[in-house]
Amino acid sequence: MTPEQIERYKRHFLVKEIGGHGQKKLLDAHVLIVGAGALGGVAARILAASGVGRLTIFDDDKVDVSNLQRQTQFSSRDVGDWKVAALFRGLSALNPDIRIDVVQERWTPDATLAEADLVLDGSDNFETRFALNASSLAEGVPLVSGAVAGWTGQVMAVNAPHDENCPCYQCFVPAEPPDAGNCKDLGVVGAITHLVASQQALLATRYLIGETENLFGRLLLIEGLTGAFRTVKLPKDPACPACGAK
Ligand SMILES: [Zn+2]
Repeated sequence: MTPEQIERYKRHFLVKEIGGHGQKKLLDAHVLIVGAGALGGVAARILAASGVGRLTIFDDDKVDVSNLQRQTQFSSRDVGDWKVAALFRGLSALNPDIRIDVVQERWTPDATLAEADLVLDGSDNFETRFALNASSLAEGVPLVSGAVAGWTGQVMAVNAPHDENCPCYQCFVPAEPPDAGNCKDLGVVGAITHLVASQQALLATRYLIGETENLFGRLLLIEGLTGAFRTVKLPKDPACPACGAK
């Protein structure tokens, strides 16, 4: 590691479970992020600052002024620009030490996950979530999923590689809920999106440094209005449409 890297990541070195060894693992890691918005964009900043050595980010949207209430990775100057372009500028300025690839497209299953160590889902629709879960399962790349609505948030890590008993995203959400919406029509509290994005980045960090005990198959539910945090152990569903017996 260079003297600049040692200085930059000093506070990680001082954490027993990370140290120089864990920081090296982060620098060698590649995280693919789907969505550059409230979840993906904020998680990307945390992971970039943490020294995850390579980030690939997909998004096909432009920055709208109504995004700025929660998407703190953007500024008013970025309105009208592509989210990935604005995010790239911000992340490059935050940490020039890492590789950042942005793709100005919506992620589709045509894009392989195989080069990534982990995929972080910051999408806002079930079509993408289900497709990403299927690719994650097929390619053996673990998935950290996050979702927000109103005052509530949920986060989980699924699809642990080489663990046949690990649930997948669709063990938890087998089909699109009838009342599904996204934050375009539901409204969402800015601070909740940050809690969920931070938790996604935390789960990713734990996985990448090898601290995987109790990491997978646990759903964290955050109820922002009452301050309740709950963790529910997710069972694998034998009848799951994605990972169950065919
Ligand atoms: Zn499943």
